[in-house]
Amino acid sequence: MFTIGCHLSSAKGYLSMGQSAVSIGANTFQFFTRNPRGGNAKAMDSADVAAYLEYAKEHGIRQILAHAPYTLNGCSADEKVRDFARRTMTDDLKRLEATPGNCYNFHPGCHVGQGTETGIALISEMLNAILTPAQNTTVLLETMAGKGSEVGKTFEELREILDRVSCSEKAGVCLDTCHVWDGGYDIAGHLDEVLDEFDRVIGLARLKAVHLNDSMNPLGAHKDRHARIGEGKIGLEALTRVINHPALRELPFYLETPNELDGYAREIRLLRGRYKAPHSVTAETAATASPRTIST
Ligand code: FE
Ligand code: FE
Ligand code: ZN
Repeated sequence: MFTIGCHLSSAKGYLSMGQSAVSIGANTFQFFTRNPRGGNAKAMDSADVAAYLEYAKEHGIRQILAHAPYTLNGCSADEKVRDFARRTMTDDLKRLEATPGNCYNFHPGCHVGQGTETGIALISEMLNAILTPAQNTTVLLETMAGKGSEVGKTFEELREILDRVSCSEKAGVCLDTCHVWDGGYDIAGHLDEVLDEFDRVIGLARLKAVHLNDSMNPLGAHKDRHARIGEGKIGLEALTRVINHPALRELPFYLETPNELDGYAREIRLLRGRYKAPHSVTAETAATASPRTIST
């Protein structure tokens, strides 16, 4: 089944996000756990969470993705910044226990001159201090564009972090199409090869979510500027192959394109029209034809 949504504002709480998602034809969504620049999170509103969970069940919303503030830097050279990252992630994961079974995405961080190896060591140290076998959220490392001193710009770097995480069943990867493209992986011309490489280096079983974005810049630009679907250098045809690829099509897709709600609604409609029903399902649907259960 096609699971598609976009990044939504969390300002009005969970139920409001669920309603926004449904209003634009989405069946999932992503949100910042707190102000994206960091700072304190609002107190959890348990009535809002309960209303949301009920609403989500009714409307078939699933696999929502929380995004850590992007200022969180677990491999900073500054101990205070690392400590902030650790406390923020710990607190976020505690709060996410209210909506169990989802994922939490974060940017591995910037090593700011300490070197990639030190960055990798600090990030995995942080994860080892936080992750527990009992938690009900999977923490995802996002593939990065390689802007500045970002760690996580190659599959090898992500693999090295994951290799050192002891609670490995609670850690995975979120692939951002704009970031990997900017990082030099040609998903437009050689999607199969890129995914083979991902599988060889990290393992496709570790891939839990996709950020679906076009890119304003050419392959390998290391810029990280998202474009609307079909308006960038990756292009609509390539992104159509991404959502339909056998290794990806069952994963949740989240748009982080420069759009307001109506623009997201248009992109979701466009992509739903381009998501192919698998042949087996088509045959099955035809055999047990019931006009009310046919889905696109
Ligand atoms: Fe991100
Ligand atoms: Fe992203
Ligand atoms: Zn980005």
